[in-house]
Amino acid sequence: MDAPRDAPRDAPTGLVVLDAIDAQISPRDAVLRFLPHRGRRMVGAWCFVDVYGPWAIGAGEPGMTVPPHSHIGLQTLSWVLDGEVLHRDSLGTTATASPGYAALMTAGLGIAHSENTPDGHCGRLHGAQLWIALPDAVRARPPSFELVGPATQVPIEGATAHVFAGTLAGRSSRLTEGSGLHSPLVGAELRASPLQVPAAAEAHEEAMGPARVPLEAAYEHLLLPLTGTARLGGHVLQTRVAAYLPPGRDAVELELSPDARVLLLGGLPFDEEILMWWNFVARTHEEIVEAREQWNAGSPRFGEVGHYPDGSRLAAPPLPTVRLKPRGRAR
Ligand code: MN
Repeated sequence: MDAPRDAPRDAPTGLVVLDAIDAQISPRDAVLRFLPHRGRRMVGAWCFVDVYGPWAIGAGEPGMTVPPHSHIGLQTLSWVLDGEVLHRDSLGTTATASPGYAALMTAGLGIAHSENTPDGHCGRLHGAQLWIALPDAVRARPPSFELVGPATQVPIEGATAHVFAGTLAGRSSRLTEGSGLHSPLVGAELRASPLQVPAAAEAHEEAMGPARVPLEAAYEHLLLPLTGTARLGGHVLQTRVAAYLPPGRDAVELELSPDARVLLLGGLPFDEEILMWWNFVARTHEEIVEAREQWNAGSPRFGEVGHYPDGSRLAAPPLPTVRLKPRGRAR
């Protein structure tokens, strides 16, 4: 009998290989989705992970085009590797997310926003769209938006970690629990860096050694190459192949290809069941029904992205006929 896909491959460590899901986000654009995934719905409070691009965008092409839509109960965090994303929201914000900065939008009770490739773009776009579930105690807070950066550069053995959320190796980003974030988590991009070999060493001045990434042992983690490859034990992670690491390790050793840029997401396992539907994170079917009706009716709960150029907006789709149920982090 064939082993089920995405089953634990390493019994002792509990590592799980996650193959990307191809998700069509618009008639034109397909992305790689890593969360939610069958058997793995969340990693810490991270509840949604999409990677888009790399795309080449011609001078006359619109690029990313996501008209105004609404969110509740979550934070969105945009991490752009290459290119730029113009954010507009119903608070009146206009901001451009670009490499090195995290665009953090807290939906709370409700917000509407749009995301577009700006005029005068660089012709490329590559990034990750991440969602963080808000704990019940703060999920009805007022909406907000901030562009936060630059990321904190943390030298670690064999790599540099660009920490954009939480803390890694004792070094904190500008976003931490209590300061922009609402649960213990980490978000970082790991980039390979050559090991400096002592001058006395022969021949090669520099060599790529394995990267040793310190981890918070209480956290679970997701490792996901955005470019290049990362060898982890017997597994080769690449842009379509991520690894989930359960809590209980204080480090992970990775052999990074020279071009590797690896997304590391982690957090304390999120112990609340959540209900995710469309762009909403809630707890009950009724909350989803209400948010959907209010958005589609133009309720002031969400406001309007009045400065969106063509006045269009995305309607929430019909609900399924079955009652929506909250689900835990791993099923
Ligand atoms: Mn959105």
